Amino acid sequence: MEDKILLEVKNLKKYFPIKKGILGTQISNVKAVDDVSFSIKKGETLGFVGESGCGKTTTGRTIIKLYEPTEGQIIYDGQDIAKLSPRHMLPYRKKMQMIFQDPYASLDPRMTVGDIIGEAIDAQKLLGKGERNDKITYLLKKVGLNGDHGSRYPHEFSGGQRQRIGIARALAVDPEFIVCDEPISALDVSIQAQVVNMLEDLQHDLGLTYLFIAHDLSMVKHISNRIGVMYLGHLVEIGESNELYSKPLHPYTQALLSAIPIPDPDMASKNKRIVLQGETPSPIDPPVGCRFKDRCKYAKPICSQVTPLLKEVGKDHSVACHLY
Ligand code: SF4
Repeated sequence: MEDKILLEVKNLKKYFPIKKGILGTQISNVKAVDDVSFSIKKGETLGFVGESGCGKTTTGRTIIKLYEPTEGQIIYDGQDIAKLSPRHMLPYRKKMQMIFQDPYASLDPRMTVGDIIGEAIDAQKLLGKGERNDKITYLLKKVGLNGDHGSRYPHEFSGGQRQRIGIARALAVDPEFIVCDEPISALDVSIQAQVVNMLEDLQHDLGLTYLFIAHDLSMVKHISNRIGVMYLGHLVEIGESNELYSKPLHPYTQALLSAIPIPDPDMASKNKRIVLQGETPSPIDPPVGCRFKDRCKYAKPICSQVTPLLKEVGKDHSVACHLY
């Protein structure tokens, strides 16, 4: 990992309008990502965790412009790409790729694997036919498949192999930055570690930078240099992985981490699981002040009035909570 910042996200918002009636009058917004700021260094893996619907996937999709941001800056290698037109975005599309959660749904069943991987090369007009085929063979081997698998169709492969094809497709345009959107959660437990290890090897060989979005808190710790915790569209804590896991500060992070199963029975008996009361509020009408306040046992009057901002509390460790 280098010291150079590759991506800096400042005050990012992504709202989805809710419309009503024949005229489609906008009546409200789903505030999926609401004022999120963070940065990622070149060669780093930043993990993002949080419950389903917290905004982590929307953040990933917005920073590579699969969604247009509502507000905020996305500074990639010194250039704010948030408002770039599709034409001016083209060179960045090549640098920023995504690996999707569901390897079954993300591959077109009517296309051969070679054409799935080659499609991105064709769209970017990168190579002639011979070089294109050589590259497809190289990529298939790079992700642990046979070089001659290009003529087969996705249904001929297992779930783990399909995810490898999805990874080869993302690598086809020689990206620098990849959003890995829960790349292992649809896979059998026995092959999850293989895919994670392969992603680590690829990062090492190709100098890749990852935003790794995950449900599995053990796996995300294994692969990430730092971890960000999202709750209801806000980033509530971010820090170096070991520090965050050994010293979680935000009450929500503490609850999330307390739910990780511990294999050692002695250690497990000392670990008290924190069971959160209540439901996550709606992102259409999030609470004023701290969004976690209705589920937090430490809540105090200020928590209902003032939104806590991310505050640095140590080296590479920031938390958004009025307790700090
Ligand atoms: Fe709890 Fe208040 Fe901290 Fe929110 S700001 S997590 S309500 S103590």
